[in-house]
Amino acid sequence: MGTGVIIAGAGPVGLMLAGELRLWGVDVVVCEQRAAPSGESRGVGFTRRAYEVFDQRGLLGGLGEIEIGNQGHFGGVRVDFDKLDDIHFGIRGVPQYRIEAMLEAWVTDLGASVERGYEVVDYRESDDGIVVVTEGPQGRSERTAQYLVGCDGGRSTVRRLAGIDFPGIPATRGMYVADIAGCDIRPRPVGERVPGGMVMAIRLEEGVDRIIIHPDGQPPRETGEVTFTEVADSWQRLTGQSVHDADVRWVSAFTNTTRQAAEYRRGRVLLSGDSTHIHVPAGAQGLSVGVQDAVNLGWKLAATVNGWAPEGLLDTYHSERHPVGQRLLRSTLAQSQLYLTGDEMEPVRSVMRELAQIPEAAHALAGMVSGLEVRYDVGASGHPLLGLRLRPDRELQLADGSRTKAVRLLHHGRGVLVDAGPSGEAGKLAAPWSDRVDVVAATWVPAEGATGQPALESVLVRPDGHIIWAAPDGGDVQEALRRWFGAAGANAQSRDPEAVTAAS
Ligand SMILES: Cc1cc2nc3c(=O)[nH]c(=O)nc-3n(C[C@H](O)[C@H](O)[C@H](O)COP(=O)(O)OP(=O)(O)OC[C@H]3O[C@@H](n4cnc5c(N)ncnc54)[C@H](O)[C@@H]3O)c2cc1C
Repeated sequence: MGTGVIIAGAGPVGLMLAGELRLWGVDVVVCEQRAAPSGESRGVGFTRRAYEVFDQRGLLGGLGEIEIGNQGHFGGVRVDFDKLDDIHFGIRGVPQYRIEAMLEAWVTDLGASVERGYEVVDYRESDDGIVVVTEGPQGRSERTAQYLVGCDGGRSTVRRLAGIDFPGIPATRGMYVADIAGCDIRPRPVGERVPGGMVMAIRLEEGVDRIIIHPDGQPPRETGEVTFTEVADSWQRLTGQSVHDADVRWVSAFTNTTRQAAEYRRGRVLLSGDSTHIHVPAGAQGLSVGVQDAVNLGWKLAATVNGWAPEGLLDTYHSERHPVGQRLLRSTLAQSQLYLTGDEMEPVRSVMRELAQIPEAAHALAGMVSGLEVRYDVGASGHPLLGLRLRPDRELQLADGSRTKAVRLLHHGRGVLVDAGPSGEAGKLAAPWSDRVDVVAATWVPAEGATGQPALESVLVRPDGHIIWAAPDGGDVQEALRRWFGAAGANAQSRDPEAVTAAS
């Protein structure tokens, strides 16, 4: 039946999903309403977990030079990330258009078709597929597929057509954003409270800065209503500096509207990224959580299309990612209140500053900012790492004596069983799943100075990097394989079924 999957929207989330599906050989068409990339960049950075997700597929090199942040905070309250065992710092100063260009090059290379100038306007579902209606340069046309995924942003047409609710909190605050060149702007990457509001300034490239302004009491504004003079007046009022003569690259307005889709799947329609959650852009979260949605969904949808998905696998996309979206909304609301509320919030900020000195509290706040806190219910217990992501920086010594980092094992997007036991038993038990799971015989190199990390033995990791079985005491490895990868020997398709080696 036609294409495997049609994706509406070639934003970062639609492109990430297309790549994940292609890694498993699924036919993918991405329909994008815009005739050409917008060149705009709402996002200018991403979180640590998004960094790791890109790294898992070997994509960071495609972004060129990137700068790791060096100031940890939660809504402007300083949190000393340097004192924590894990690395929580995000990436800053990478415009969103560069991330989209990198992803589009990747998915095109993998064989996905990105069709620009095609807007998804309707669909109808049948028992064995879905007919998607697009409006394109030659008018209306229909295409068939097994699934449609709406990665079509906060105002998602697919969500509306599917009748999926988008409940939440309407906008109460307005903010300005402008990218400007030719002004000597002092960096304020964390954002600062100043009399009359909050201001932030992020260096985008040499001579180009992003300024973000929230004047206290500013009501929500539509982007189209905002002029640069208004933005410059506001910046001057809050900082004393005039930027009226700047070379203006982009001006916009945004709000604190906070909403989440009630369902991430309805029948043959799924939603991902901003179509499932919108919130105030505090802490570089939207794109970052969106690409993690895509990486959670990609292999599950591929397993379903390719016919080896165990019962209920596709529904774990909603059950795993909807709670992550709920926490995202809660965390961005909390951060924006801390950031944007005037002097009446000062007692709360001061209590938060004190709490952030307590290591456990600092760890919890950092995990919300970085995305490293995410733990899925993987249906087993008995090992502290179950459901968490495998730390990408953990080093292994392979059977041939060479060393590699854990993150490299995930480049192919398949499951990975690291067999670190002396008998090779786990590897033998996993052999019938070798078309979906790579078995790597290796031992873990002790992590220097990482006193807080639980010891690692044999582990089974999903394509998205989360641990679903771990020895000892993490349950039965074959049960975990069946639960997540279906029946043994189901003959899964994937683009590159070769086992991963240290060189890959
Ligand atoms: C001021 C601001 C700053 C931000 N900063 C950051 C940041 O630093 N880090 C971060 O992680 N996030 C940030 N975000 C959020 C981030 O920009 C979004 O979360 C991200 O763009 C979501 O990606 P997406 O692919 O889900 O949706 P989008 O990027 O909105 O892409 C959706 C695509 O779908 C297309 N489309 C829409 N309807 C249709 C249709 N019917 N048919 C076909 N195509 C369609 C659109 O043209 C678009 O290309 C920021 C947001 C704002 C407003």
